[in-house]
Formats: sequence, structure tokens, C-alpha cells
Amino acid sequence: MGNDLRIANLARQSFGKSNQTFQTGDKGLINRLMKDRHGTPFEGVVFTFSVKAPIFVAREWFRHRIASYSELSGRYSELPPDFYIPELEQIREQKGKAMDYTFAPMELYGADAFQQIMRETCERSFESYHTLLSHGVAKEVARDVLPVNTYTTFSTIINLRSAFNFVSQRSHPSALWEIRQYSQAMELEIAKVVPHAYKAFVDKNRVAP
Ligand SMILES: Cc1cc2nc3c(=O)[nH]c(=O)nc-3n(C[C@H](O)[C@H](O)[C@H](O)COP(=O)(O)OP(=O)(O)OC[C@H]3O[C@@H](n4cnc5c(N)ncnc54)[C@H](O)[C@@H]3O)c2cc1C
Repeated sequence: MGNDLRIANLARQSFGKSNQTFQTGDKGLINRLMKDRHGTPFEGVVFTFSVKAPIFVAREWFRHRIASYSELSGRYSELPPDFYIPELEQIREQKGKAMDYTFAPMELYGADAFQQIMRETCERSFESYHTLLSHGVAKEVARDVLPVNTYTTFSTIINLRSAFNFVSQRSHPSALWEIRQYSQAMELEIAKVVPHAYKAFVDKNRVAP
């Protein structure tokens, strides 16, 4: 819902004015709002994103409180045997000290073996899940054996101001690689819907208003 014009018009509310079409001056107005961190007009643009992500990504995502979420229920639905296995180059090695880690791909030989261990572990977990279900254990209990890389699906409704805060944190190189992929995909959508506000955000060092 909304676009660049809506942001400019919400700001113009101060003067009791609004435009029917986007004017050249609106770009400057949006830049000024971003620069001075007058954030409220950006709340007038609202996105719904439908997401399929591993549970460990969803868990980080749901820390973003200024949004609404509706998620697939493992109490009411049987979860499909669908889990995230990192590509070989994402079986990463952690180096350095706390708060100052760097991550690098492992030697391919090692990565290959570790990828196999992950896959087999997930398959075994799903076998156990199905065994428990087949003996009548409730879904809400049987799911306890599933790993955090099991895929979940959810919808999130988030306004542009909060979405800028999300991508500012989650597209940053220090963020978990997996959530960064989603954040960068969100940015592409944001840029399509509100190109001027997105440019202002990027130009102002990606600080959310
Ligand atoms: C690289 C990275 C590492 C992280 N590591 C950890 C970790 O180790 N452990 C951990 O627990 N979390 C961690 N987090 C999560 C982080 O601390 C935030 O909880 C999360 O990123 C959500 O950010 P947020 O509060 O700005 O977003 P939102 O919850 O969407 O809030 C948006 C804005 O609203 C305001 N706001 C919201 N709620 C309140 C409130 N109660 N009081 C005052 N103002 C509020 C703030 O201005 C906030 O920035 C990490 C995040 C990142 C990006």
C-alpha cells in the first residue's frame, strides 16, 4: 500500500495540502524527511511479504517487533520434510574472537562431508517425526524432534520505516548470511515500489528515518 507520492502527501499534511501526482519538489521533500529523520510519513507505505525460510532465520526475523506476523502452525499442520542444507561454499568456518568474527568457506573436502552429515541428520529427524505421528503423538509434541533448519512459512506486514530499519540491520555484512539473502530480496521490492524514498535511504548511509 502506498508509494512515494503518499509519503510526500503525508508530510504535506502539516500545511493542509496534497498533490494528485508526484512533483519534482517531492523528491527534495523525501530527501529532507530522510535527512532529518522525520520518520512518520514513511509509515504510510505498507508491505506484505510472504516468506519461506528456515526456522533459525524466522527466529531472527521475529525479533523485529514493529511488524505483524502470521506463521504456519506446527500444532495444527504436519510440517513437510523440507529443510535448508547450505550450499558447499556456505558451510562456513568461524575465525577470530567474540564480537569480531569472520567467516570463510571451508576446504571443499571438509564441506562436502559436513553437508552430508547435516542432510542425514535431518532425514533421521524427519523419520522420527513421522514415527511419532504414526503412533498418534500430537503434532505439537512430535515436532520437538525437528531441527531449526526446517522450513517454515509466514507473512509479515511491515511499514516502510520499519522495513528500512530491518534492511539496514539485516543486509549489513555483519548479519547472518542466510537472513541477508532475504533482506536483499526485500530491498529489490522496496526499490520498485518507492524508488525515491529508497534512493534517499541509500544516499543517507542506510540509516532508517
Ligand atoms: C548482526 C546482529 C546481531 C544480533 N545479535 C543478537 C544477539 O546476540 N542476541 C539478541 O538477543 N539479539 C541480537 N540481535 C537482535 C537485535 O538486538 C534486535 O533485537 C533486532 O535486530 C531488532 O531490531 P530493532 O529492535 O531495531 O527492531 P524492532 O523491534 O522492529 O524495533 C524498531 C525500532 O522501534 C523502537 N523500539 C521497538 N521496541 C522498543 C522498546 N521496547 N523500547 C524502545 N524502543 C523500541 C526502536 O527504535 C527500534 O529500533 C542481533 C541483530 C543483528 C542485526
